[in-house]
Amino acid sequence: MEFCVCKIDFFCVNFAPNFKPNYLNFHIMAKASEVVFNEEPHFYQDVCGFVDQAAQFTKHDKGLINQIKACNSVYRFQFPIRKGNSFEIIHAWRVEHSHHMSPTKGGIRYSEMVNEDEVMALAALMTYKCAIVNVPFGGAKGGIKINPKNYSLAELENITRRYTVELTKKNFIGPGIDVPAPDYGSGEREMSWIADTYLTMNPGSLDALGCVTGKPIALHGIAGRKEATGRGVAYAIRECVSFAEDMKPLGLTTGLSGKKIIVQGLGNVGYYTTKFLLEYGAIIVGLCEFEGAIYNENGLDLEEVFNHRKSTGSILGFSKATKEFKNSAEGLEQECDVLVPAALENQITEHNIARIKAKIIAEAANGPTSPAAAAAFINRGGIIIPDMYANAGGVTVSYFEWLKNLSHVAFGRMGRRYDENSNINIMNLIESTTGMTLTNEQRMVVAKGASELELVNSGLEDTMVRSYHEIRELKMRTPKIDSLRTAAFVGAVDKIAVSYMNMGVWP
Ligand code: NAD
Repeated sequence: MEFCVCKIDFFCVNFAPNFKPNYLNFHIMAKASEVVFNEEPHFYQDVCGFVDQAAQFTKHDKGLINQIKACNSVYRFQFPIRKGNSFEIIHAWRVEHSHHMSPTKGGIRYSEMVNEDEVMALAALMTYKCAIVNVPFGGAKGGIKINPKNYSLAELENITRRYTVELTKKNFIGPGIDVPAPDYGSGEREMSWIADTYLTMNPGSLDALGCVTGKPIALHGIAGRKEATGRGVAYAIRECVSFAEDMKPLGLTTGLSGKKIIVQGLGNVGYYTTKFLLEYGAIIVGLCEFEGAIYNENGLDLEEVFNHRKSTGSILGFSKATKEFKNSAEGLEQECDVLVPAALENQITEHNIARIKAKIIAEAANGPTSPAAAAAFINRGGIIIPDMYANAGGVTVSYFEWLKNLSHVAFGRMGRRYDENSNINIMNLIESTTGMTLTNEQRMVVAKGASELELVNSGLEDTMVRSYHEIRELKMRTPKIDSLRTAAFVGAVDKIAVSYMNMGVWP
């Protein structure tokens, strides 16, 4: 085979045979007779399209809608790092989509597939997400175009610290400016390096640790942040399946107990979503990772699968699976009630939607369903719990972490013992006036003051439950709104528009 030119920005190896990448910056120039793809990325355009669709149900001026859609600041940069005896150029981005609220907020993605369009789209989704769950931030997102698996720990630290220095130099990070968090390919470790670098460059700054969230607890993180996104996804699904009138047309009963679920991605979001769904009595029938997928209609044990993958390096070969698929995408197409894509965008497209058997898609990942696939799924009566709501648990608890960093005190520290003493006094009073005696166990349950974790989880649950009801009610009020996604965008656009008008930016 003879190729004349070959410029590949990146290549993803596990596409289904007829898979057509949508959001990817994919340019392959091959011999004239063998042209493969030359498709421009359009994830950001897709997100803008959702806003346009929602705008029809609002009364806002077109100019204001255009301002809401626009990405306010896009910082594209590159820096060299030493790799072996040579240098490598690292490409990176930070996008602040909207400043209708400050600071802006959004994760940093470490992926060789990351590109400007994707970071802009994800930053925009953050704006709408924060509005939906009433978190007072504008949206932002970062991207570092590397595959973390190809770098040593020291190199990753070097890249992360240098990225932070670049953001600091250009005023793209700070507790009152822009606050990153973990995303695909990054976690507590990277957030620690960011916090430490920012602190070093801002000595004496009292609120410096509020410059990033998703930090480990020992470095002023917050209890419950690591599992917050997955916990939030589980709450979102639980709320969705709690409405009998919504479940009946799907032929489903209410409640999570016994619901058959397939999860794609066993990373942070996928793992914790699965864990909490299991706690609610759901049956995990399928798990998909990039190397393949496994299935058992009677259920899979998460910890057993996780440990099997840890020890063998693959999800495949798990002895209790009744089916396995080397092409991971086939795992999504198996029998289930709820499909939870928790890996990457663009996993459910017009090419595989007809084969998806789930009745509910809960978008734990950002942008996993293409607009065409989403429309086809809704048309056949399915429910999509949209990404900007479903995975908002992470940013909600990040908000709590940021508040903790600014107040410099752990939640519950001031009131916990006071509450316990008050509860004991009330119980003593009840016992002495009624003659009743409570058991030690009863006394302990009633007396207990709330820990930070309990407060965080309660704030998260309240946010996810209220927001679901808000979105669903908006949809029910306007019969022409065909999906929870459009309803969520209508609510978000309204809130952002009000902010702009209140600021006097818009007359
Ligand atoms: P992660 O890096 O911890 O995990 C991603 C997992 O997906 C990995 O295990 C990876 O091997 C797997 N994966 C990659 N490609 C796959 C494929 N083709 N098929 C099956 N599995 C595949 O990332 P994460 O933090 O869990 O993020 C996952 C998604 O959730 C992303 O879209 C991210 O933007 C979104 N999200 C994350 C958070 C958060 O708090 N981490 C918050 C909101 C949204």
